[in-house]
Amino acid sequence: MAASNQNDPHGFRRRGLLFVLSSPSGAGKSTISRMLLAEDPGLRMSVSATTRPIRPGEVDGRDYHFVDLAKFREMTANNEFLEWAHVFDNRYGTPRAPVEEMLKAGCDVLFDIDWQGAQQLYQIAGGDVVRVFILPPSIAELERRLRARGTDSEEVIAGRMSRAANEISHWDGYDYVLVNDDAQACFEQVHSILRAERLKRSRQTGLIGFIRGLQKRAEGLE
Ligand code: 5GP
Repeated sequence: MAASNQNDPHGFRRRGLLFVLSSPSGAGKSTISRMLLAEDPGLRMSVSATTRPIRPGEVDGRDYHFVDLAKFREMTANNEFLEWAHVFDNRYGTPRAPVEEMLKAGCDVLFDIDWQGAQQLYQIAGGDVVRVFILPPSIAELERRLRARGTDSEEVIAGRMSRAANEISHWDGYDYVLVNDDAQACFEQVHSILRAERLKRSRQTGLIGFIRGLQKRAEGLE
C-alpha cells in the first residue's frame, strides 16, 4: 500500500496502516474511534456504506453512506468495496476509492468494521492491517450501554445481544484485545498501539536510506 509520512517528526516515508477496531455492538468502539480521530491528525476514518436504516442523530455521509439494497448490489457488482459483509440482516461495506486516496495522501485509515471485514482486509493487505478487538467489561454492562443509547428497539437490542456471543468468539482473529471499562483508559491504550505500530521496522521503508547514511558516517569514524 501507499507510503505515508504523516505524524513522522523526521519526515521519513512510511507504509500506511489500516487500523481496524472491532467489538460487539455497545462495547464502546464508536467513542474510542471519535477520540482517536480528534486526537490524531494522521488518522482518517473509512466511512462504510450500509443498507440499515439511519438512526436518530446519525448523519448520512458522516456516520455511514446510507444506501438501498439495489445501490449496494450495484456497488458490489462494480467492485467498489474493499470488503463487505452481512451484519444483523443488513449489508455493510467499505468503499475502496476513499481508502486508497487517504493512504495516498499519507494518512493511516481507521475502520469500524466487524470480524468478517477484519478478515477480508487482512487477506487483501496483510501486514499493513492492525486488528484491535475491544471487549465490554461484562455482558450486563454491554446490555446497559445498548439501552442507554436509546436508539434501538427491544427487538434490535435482543438481536444485538445474541450477536455479541458470536462477535466475541472471533477475538482470536485480532492482533490486540482490550477490555473497555473506562473510555479514556481504553482510548489511551488504543492510541499507544497505533503509535507503536507506526514505528514497526517493516513500515519504516524511508528509514533505510537514513540508516545507510548513519552507517557510512559511523564507518568513516572507525
Ligand atoms: P451498527 O449498525 O451498530 O452501526 O454496526 C453494526 C456492525 O457492523 C458493527 O459491528 C460495525 O463494526 C459493523 N460494520 C460497520 N461498517 C462495516 C463495514 O463496512 N464492513 C463490515 N464488515 N462491518 C461493518
